[in-house]
Amino acid sequence: MCPHPKNSRQIFRAPWVVPVTAPVIHDGAVVIDENSIVAVGSYSDIASHFSDLPLTNCSGVLLPALVNAHIHLDLSAYGTVYQESEDSTMCDWISALLRKRLQTHISDEDLKTAAENIVQDQYDSGVGLMLDISNVSLGHFVSFPVEIISLFEMLGPSKTAQQAAVSAIQNLPSNQAVTGHAPYSTTPELLKYIKERCHRRGDLFSLHLAENPDEALLLVKGGGCFSQFLKERGGWDDTFPIPGIDSSGVVGYLHELGILDKRTICVHCVHLTTKEIKIIADSHAHVCLCPGSNRFLSVGTAPLEQFLEHRILPALGTDSIASNTKLDIWQEMSLLREMYPDVSPEHIFSMATLGGAKAMHRDSDYGSLAQGKKTRILHVQGFPYDEVSSANQLLDLLTSCGRPDSITWLNRDGVVKT
Ligand SMILES: [Zn+2]
Repeated sequence: MCPHPKNSRQIFRAPWVVPVTAPVIHDGAVVIDENSIVAVGSYSDIASHFSDLPLTNCSGVLLPALVNAHIHLDLSAYGTVYQESEDSTMCDWISALLRKRLQTHISDEDLKTAAENIVQDQYDSGVGLMLDISNVSLGHFVSFPVEIISLFEMLGPSKTAQQAAVSAIQNLPSNQAVTGHAPYSTTPELLKYIKERCHRRGDLFSLHLAENPDEALLLVKGGGCFSQFLKERGGWDDTFPIPGIDSSGVVGYLHELGILDKRTICVHCVHLTTKEIKIIADSHAHVCLCPGSNRFLSVGTAPLEQFLEHRILPALGTDSIASNTKLDIWQEMSLLREMYPDVSPEHIFSMATLGGAKAMHRDSDYGSLAQGKKTRILHVQGFPYDEVSSANQLLDLLTSCGRPDSITWLNRDGVVKT
């Protein structure tokens, strides 16, 4: 870890700097003050403009903080919920999760402690910004230097459940942002109601979308495992199938409802047609992929190459510990490398940083190393980073072998205020 001289403005020089929004810099430097990045560039340029500032030489690499754009902290205490057999459906997994939540009595304090442990792990692994979707109020995580945007998740698959959800929303504290769960679990009226509330307040709207092909089966035909799931639980009325869904499927339906815009994050997006991807791109909605969760639940792989072709840079999320073996954005990156060998390491690292920051509309502070952004800088050193000979090799290593335990925060000692 670099030593931290206690001056207001200072230069950190490293063999490699990864700005994300500009090419990787060999022998680069970052100038910071107490709150923000003042300049990023080659060391020779920085030294000529800031010759009077204290200099700290670091080994290894300087990087922007990672962004986890999809997590459910309220599920932290329940641990991983494994599928009972290879033939289990996603509905079986949801049933197992609900059973576990009902049968395991966990106090509010323990729920909060488990969530705090996950937040600490996220911070230790280099995550500086997170989007949490919970349907239990966990309060604020003020003692952690991770910025967390929390959306309270609502669902209601029938008219009765919708009414209960609307009453619950009206009784929430006025500063609580709310979002909808998924098209298969939320009536169109409720999705619209929540989205309009988000729109009035300028809140993000995050929605699980196309995680499983049975979602479209429910909405278009009233069939599939979700239909059976709702019927078994008495949550079935005439809401599904949704009348008039055409070949643009569930995405076209959401677009007509007014759900898709630049403040909407579509999470998972595994089962989409090219036409649907185009609708998302044209609406400027964001996409967040959770490859670890998708692999865990065997729901398929998202069409990442097509998103990139449509100029969508997806965000990355871990989803909850219930549907993943490990909550680690480094692991999500290495999974993407395995799943999409033709996608460049540069794109994958951008997803884990800039993609999430843009989706959360926090890219003025996060997502890259650039003038004016927060000093949320990671330092990675040691083998193999000290032996890197090219920018391509560096990005290849970071995205395929990056590990939480190899990073430290440049501002970890509180020298630079967060
Ligand atoms: Zn989720």
